[in-house]
Amino acid sequence: MSIWYNHVRTRIRMGAIVDNFTLIRGRAANPAPVIKSDAYGHGLRETARALFAAGARTMAAGTVGEAAVLKETTPGAEVISLLGPIDAADYGLVCEHDIIPFAGSSEQLLLLEEAASRAGVPVRVALKFDTGMSRLGFGADEAGGVADLLEGLGNVRAVMAASHLATADDPDQDGYAQEQAGRFEGILHALHARGLDVQGSLANSAAIFGHPRTHHGLQRPGIALYGGNPFHGTGLAHLGQGLKQGMDVASRLVQVRTIPAGRTVSYGRTFTATQETRVGIVAVGYADNYSRGLSSRAQMLVHGRRVDVLGRVCMQLTAVDLGPVPEAAVGDEVFVLGGPGGNAISADELAAWWGTITYEVFCLLGQNPREYVE
Ligand SMILES: *Cc1c(COP(=O)(O)O)cnc(C)c1O
Repeated sequence: MSIWYNHVRTRIRMGAIVDNFTLIRGRAANPAPVIKSDAYGHGLRETARALFAAGARTMAAGTVGEAAVLKETTPGAEVISLLGPIDAADYGLVCEHDIIPFAGSSEQLLLLEEAASRAGVPVRVALKFDTGMSRLGFGADEAGGVADLLEGLGNVRAVMAASHLATADDPDQDGYAQEQAGRFEGILHALHARGLDVQGSLANSAAIFGHPRTHHGLQRPGIALYGGNPFHGTGLAHLGQGLKQGMDVASRLVQVRTIPAGRTVSYGRTFTATQETRVGIVAVGYADNYSRGLSSRAQMLVHGRRVDVLGRVCMQLTAVDLGPVPEAAVGDEVFVLGGPGGNAISADELAAWWGTITYEVFCLLGQNPREYVE
């Protein structure tokens, strides 16, 4: 969490995340929770402790710095860094904390060899291959060259080969996921043929639920752990059924006023009341990572009922129409995400109003002060 100046509260139900982990384990044999970016806003340390207690013995962080914190939090877990080392400090941390970094270039392997020999410890790596994201990793045709290079490195041992899918959550692009899966199988085959005893890792959340072919030895669920259904809005949405959202975000009503027809609300006068309107002012705004893009689009939850955002979201304030909740008063709690009862605001809904995905909703709102509840 990095936002400290507000009254917004991000409430995390760790029980929901543990339940999601259990559900995922029913679908895949060996899932390594992905808890990068502060566990998608749910708190790296808290999430790591809960999942370790629930039986997770391998976990994946993003940067090496995050991986080091993760290793300190759960020393009994194997820890992967999905980004791998970027600067000199990272190379040192990999050795110091026995982190398994993704390595996707010859330079990285050579620098790891150097760091390992300097530290006097062997380093294990996960070889990262690009099979279709065009992002990080060795090319799919470089498996042989990588094996050659590794033969000359005495202190670096490859224990895993990994890649990442671009379209696993989109049934309309299944063909591309299959192409990537095939390319990855070729890479694994080539590495095994060279005598490298590497475990395969390709599946993200969507692939865990939708592409059993990609499971290999280790799976990497992220969004599903936090209750995001990777297939939301598609014909495969039923595959993610039963996942529970673990994050609620609430603030408070700080003023309530009634305005006459014709009066406008907030900057730029983008909302004009067509009738007498009871307006609630909520202490949340774009400085709390409640995006200005939600202006006049989003809903919030007050006393279990939906209310509409009126006009522009401000830096620390947002106006809502309290028409549906006549009893609402200053000090009452207002949910921008989640909330009690059947009208809870789902991350998928909020993401749609926001013009983004649940991942970004969790990462950004999770930067508000967090509380852990049951
Ligand atoms: C974030 C990430 C994941 C998890 O993806 P989800 O879609 O959240 O399940 C897996 N692998 C890599 C390399 C990632 O960066």
